[in-house]
Amino acid sequence: LAFFVSCSEQNKEQGAHLQGRTMGTTYNVRYYPQQPIDSKLVQDKIDLSLLQLNQQMSTYIPDSQISQFNKMQSTEPMQIDDGFAYVVDQAIELAKLSQGALDITVGPLVNLWGFGPDKKPTQLPSDQQLGQIDDYVGINKLLLDGNQLSKTDPRVTIDLSAIAKGYGVDVVAEVLESFEIDNYLVEIGGEMRLKGHKPQKQSWLVAIEKPQSLERSVQQVLNVGNNALATSGDYRNYFEQDGIRYSHTIDPITAKPIRHKLASVSVVAENCTLADGWATALNVLGPEKGYKLASELGLAVYLVIKSDEGFEVKYTKAFEPYLVQF
Ligand code: ADP
Repeated sequence: LAFFVSCSEQNKEQGAHLQGRTMGTTYNVRYYPQQPIDSKLVQDKIDLSLLQLNQQMSTYIPDSQISQFNKMQSTEPMQIDDGFAYVVDQAIELAKLSQGALDITVGPLVNLWGFGPDKKPTQLPSDQQLGQIDDYVGINKLLLDGNQLSKTDPRVTIDLSAIAKGYGVDVVAEVLESFEIDNYLVEIGGEMRLKGHKPQKQSWLVAIEKPQSLERSVQQVLNVGNNALATSGDYRNYFEQDGIRYSHTIDPITAKPIRHKLASVSVVAENCTLADGWATALNVLGPEKGYKLASELGLAVYLVIKSDEGFEVKYTKAFEPYLVQF
């Protein structure tokens, strides 16, 4: 989770602050327009765009495109909308780049571990059960040709939870751009995208949260420029039993919930779909492999790692320009 750093003296010139709910969480939009704009019009367009997104990609809506695809008992191609096709395409690309760490076909594995809405696994699957699932879990079981989406086995399903919030942020940013708003901050459930600045050329400042489950405090203040910021980590949503912390993030290589010392990983990228997808992928890879891959690919990444003394921080060279001493 990241949050917006606000100082009272910075609020002299009032911009707009819109709030609402989407994807099981909240959204916040702040902007300072060049000329007066009816914020009701802006919010209506944001809400309509988010509604359309959910109608394509929400597994909570029984007749959404994704739900239809998941229920489809056929390997014939299905025609899907542009937004959905874009997100699947990006997820396939990220799966390749992350050596299979991000895998949107992982749903059956999440279910096999019995994760309930409280992120608590209610059962431990047998090796035999985990083995059988190989026929219908794996990014290569999904085929996308333009807007035609198909699966190699009728049991293949898609779960976009790891990337959809980031895409939602990009969709809202596009709405603001359509109103020619150049100074904005968009945030959905802690994933965010920023552009321009506040009045008097003041930078937007945001903060990465300290990875502790009880109270909220600042780990690091950032100025990410015209970029997006996303954070992954199980420091708030986890379940511990017999000294083992079970995460709802699954490593597709081991078919098991991730277990390593990474408390949180934050990624800055040019758009929030990428930032969000990479945050999950690096969270799967863990502190060593994740840091190595991020450095090789030149990604801007900030890791908070659990250590005997508390927490250790590590960031890639590409992340350095965003650090602010506060
Ligand atoms: P976090 O906030 O920890 O990044 P998210 O809510 O963004 O978590 O994503 C976790 C969800 O993504 C899980 O509940 C599951 O539905 C799905 N998921 C789990 N493992 C993977 C994976 N390896 N690749 C893609 N999606 C995953």
